[in-house]
Amino acid sequence: NYRSRSVYKLIELDQKYKLLKPGNVVIDCGAAPGGWSQYIAQKVFLDNIEEKNSSVADDDDDELMITNGKEKQAEQEKARSGLVIAIDLLPILPIHGVNVIQGDFTHAPIQKKLRDLLKDRKADMVVSDMAPNFSGQHLTDHVKSMDLCEAALSLSDQILKSEGSFLCKFLMGGTEEEFKKQLQERFKQVRYEKPDASRAKSTEGYYMCLGYKSNKND
Ligand code: SAM
Repeated sequence: NYRSRSVYKLIELDQKYKLLKPGNVVIDCGAAPGGWSQYIAQKVFLDNIEEKNSSVADDDDDELMITNGKEKQAEQEKARSGLVIAIDLLPILPIHGVNVIQGDFTHAPIQKKLRDLLKDRKADMVVSDMAPNFSGQHLTDHVKSMDLCEAALSLSDQILKSEGSFLCKFLMGGTEEEFKKQLQERFKQVRYEKPDASRAKSTEGYYMCLGYKSNKND
């Protein structure tokens, strides 16, 4: 029971690119009402996905089951080190395991709160499903949307791990090609994505970026 339909876009991309892993550090920008964060938390903390019972098989002869049990335990141990931070202008009802920051993502004090929560850790992934308040004037909305993408990218430059990934939504309108070039300078792979769950008529698209090149953060 996810809080948004938008989550199906993330699920599609996660299944295609195998993005989210137990124990990951993930920042969700523009997270309200919380569908993406719910899914991210499930994958990072292994909540609700695997049955909670981690007991190793008691049949000593069945080595495969024992191995599986051990692997599962190792995964669950990893999951405990996960960190998920959700940011939005709007309030977000609590989601198990998720740290919520309410405020404008582009404001310095909000980014400081985020860095405080991260402490010395770096992010495996930054995602942004942020969308501006639509003015109805397409060019204005496009420009505002690209500004949000730029803000998410400049934050990623400070907090992303080497080989980390970045996913951002934008409204098409012309300047996204320039933004793509900035992304290509920083990531090994940059793909334009229009998930099936995104309405064909909408002008939104996503850039899926893999393999952050800088290692100055590590
Ligand atoms: N991914 C979310 C989900 O699955 O529930 C839906 C996100 S919704 C499409 C876009 C969100 O971006 C809105 O909740 C909006 O408040 C937020 N947003 C827009 N500009 C923002 C900003 N400057 N700072 C923080 N959040 C922002």
